[in-house]
This record gives sequence, structure tokens and C-alpha cells, in this order.
Amino acid sequence: MRIGIISLGCPKNQVSAEMMIASLLDAGHEIVDTTEGADAVIINTCGFIDDAVREAIENVLDMVELKNEGVIRKIIVTGCMVEKFRKEIFKEIPEVDAVVGLGALGNIVSIVDEVFERDSVYYCPPSCEMPLDGQRSLTTPEYWAYLRIADGCSNRCSYCLIPSIRGDYRSRKLENIIDEAKQLAETGVKELVLIAQDTTYYGKDLYGEYRLPELLNSLCEIDGIEWIRLLYCYPDKMTDELIDVIAAQEKVLHYIDLPVQHGDDKILKAMNRHGNSDDIRALVNKLRERIPDIVIRTTVMVGFPGEGEEEFENLAVLINELEFDRLGCFEFSPQENTPAATMEGAVDDETKSRRAEIIMNDQFAIMQEKNLSRVGSVCRVLTESYDGYSDSYTGRSYADAPEIDGVIYFTSEKDLEPGDFVDVLIEEVRDYDLLGRAVS
Ligand code: SF4
Repeated sequence: MRIGIISLGCPKNQVSAEMMIASLLDAGHEIVDTTEGADAVIINTCGFIDDAVREAIENVLDMVELKNEGVIRKIIVTGCMVEKFRKEIFKEIPEVDAVVGLGALGNIVSIVDEVFERDSVYYCPPSCEMPLDGQRSLTTPEYWAYLRIADGCSNRCSYCLIPSIRGDYRSRKLENIIDEAKQLAETGVKELVLIAQDTTYYGKDLYGEYRLPELLNSLCEIDGIEWIRLLYCYPDKMTDELIDVIAAQEKVLHYIDLPVQHGDDKILKAMNRHGNSDDIRALVNKLRERIPDIVIRTTVMVGFPGEGEEEFENLAVLINELEFDRLGCFEFSPQENTPAATMEGAVDDETKSRRAEIIMNDQFAIMQEKNLSRVGSVCRVLTESYDGYSDSYTGRSYADAPEIDGVIYFTSEKDLEPGDFVDVLIEEVRDYDLLGRAVS
């Protein structure tokens, strides 16, 4: 069969899609990247917040149009939106042929067969049955890859649906992760981007203790892997042992993604986040003392119920005081069946947008200053692409995570290939990006 696959949402979902692609290819199917003329299209949805659900439904309806035009034959909906709406999807969009929960992703090959034998196919076993180990067919460039070390979440942030969608935290066995990383290195992967809903919780469920430091040390022994990047760290689990490993291991990049969510203690409490604003300050200061060139990305949320001007001010003060290197800002959107959805003190949409704009404007100024301070410095860059029109390359330094941060545009006298490392002299700042030239 010719199978099209559309994967939405976070990198964890992307890894699930890569596992589905590998099993379908193994079974002899052909993966077509256009949906034109596909026998079946899999839409691997996200259901995290309303915007994500809207995007998922738009993609499904686009496929319905193609199906009605006879361009494609079957529509298979998988991913987190399925966990949220289950059989309702058939009622709302009767053209859908299969609704497949996370727990059934391991059976995608037989489900594809079944969808051509029966009118509608529905499988929604517990999401904790979703396979975490298995072959993948990378959708990222061959020189970097996500490495999912766990799935699900045992934290209980009051605004978040993920624990109810993806279940409690499930660490993969350490040896399975190492084996996968070795295979990735053998295929040419140089940068591993570690992901989970909370990477810092790794091992606690399976081994009764945090094992991320040990995992990082083991990953550093793998030949061919040059960069190891940590995403989705939870502040209260940034142990001294973990910080020591980041500081000591050359391959572990001095970059962490550390969502703090807010800067006001009352709001952090209502969010059911662990720790308060002073804990966040202490951690950021400790990280910068221990690792002076550490790059910290964070995520915050505005408009949480009960966030008045004073509480918002506390968030803005924290952002301007700590000056994170990278920052994403979400507007609170109440998710049914979460505690926050029924909390009092709702903030109107206009106020949410105004506050998000203030935070992002402040952050832009902070980033400009930090980027300007890099002009004249030389940094090691992973080459990603070449643009013949401008005769320049694009790449990322240790400070730039793929798909979320800015990039570096640079010229080079020497021809370079994607995946090549090169030293680049930073000469200019352009918005979130940097410009430079390769130097020997
Ligand atoms: S840490 Fe909190 S926000 Fe993140 S996935 Fe878990 S419950 Fe959701």
C-alpha cells in the first residue's frame, strides 16, 4: 500500500510516527510523503491544547476532502486527540475509517490491513500499552535525532491533560536506550536530543531512583555521538549530580530546556508546580555558577486563573531578572477534566494576549542583548543546509535546539555538507538569528 503520514504535535509524537513508519516499511508498504494518491493516510494527532486540536481537525478535514475526491481511500486517525475524543471522532467526522489510540500504535500494520477489510476500525487500549522500544525510520535529517527516554508523566500540573492522555511516567530500560543510541550513531547521527515529558524524572519509576546522570555518562561513551542535548527538564529534579555531569561531560551540551511556567508563588501553587519562585532563582543562579556558558530555555504561561496584575508583574519581574536565553510563552487555555479548568478568577482573552505580548517583547530585548554579546566570538556550528542563491549555509551552535531556536547563517570558502561541524565567527545579529563566516 502507499501510505501517507502526517505527524503533529511534540517530538514524542514524532518518534511514535517514526516507529509506525518503520513497521509499515518492514511490512512492505511504501511511505509517500504527499497525500496525493495514497491508499491510506495516517494523521498522528496532538490533543494538548485547543489550538492543537483545531490543527488536528483541520488536517483530518483536508483528508476528508481528498477522500471525497477519490484521491485517497482511507483515513486513519491516531495520537493524543484520539485519547481525548475516542469514538466521538467517528460521530463528528464519519468519513474517518479508523480511530487508533496510543496503546494500539504497535499494531499499525495489522490495523492498516483491517481498514481495507472492514467499514470502521476502532482500537483504544490503555495508552500505557504504547510501545516505547522498537525500530524507527527517522524523519529528522540523518545527522541528528530525537531520543525518547520515557513517555507519560507522573507530575500533576493542574492545567495539563498529558498524564490523563499518555498515562503515568514510563522509563525505557537503560540498556534499550543505549542500544538505540548506538544504532543511531552507526547511521550517522551526531546529535542526540533527549526527550520525554520530564527527562529529569528518568528512572524513578523503573529503578526507584533518578538515573539521568548515569544515562548521560553512558551515552557519552558512544563513538560518533558528539552532541547530547537535554530538553523538558523539571526544575525540582535538577540534582547536583545531574548538574555535575552536564558540567563535566564534553558531549553533553551546556544547554537545557527548563519550563518554569510562572514567577508568582500563588500561581505556581495553583498550577501544582513543585517549588516556588525563589527555588527557580536559586536553581538558575546555581546553574550559571557551575556552568557559566549554560544556555537556558524556558516556557511560561500567562492568563492562569487568578493571575491579576500583581501576579503577572511577579512573572515579568522574574523574566527580566533571570534573563533566560530562550523563552516560549503560552496563553492559558482551560482543558476539560483538569483542575485548572474549573478554577475561579478566569482571565479574559484580550488580557492574556496583552500579557503574552509584554513577556515576548521583554524577552526579545533580552535575547537581542545576549545575541549582540556573541558578536566577535567563534562558536562550533553543526551545518544543516546550503542556500545556493545567497551562497550561504545554515547551521546551529550548542545554544540552538533544532526546530525551536534560531539559526546561524554563515558563509564558507570551503564546501560543507549537512552534518559537518565548522567554527564560525559571529559577525551580526538579525532578529532571533545570527550571521557569520566560517573560520579555520
Ligand atoms: S510536567 Fe506538568 S506540564 Fe509537563 S507533561 Fe507533566 S503534567 Fe504536563
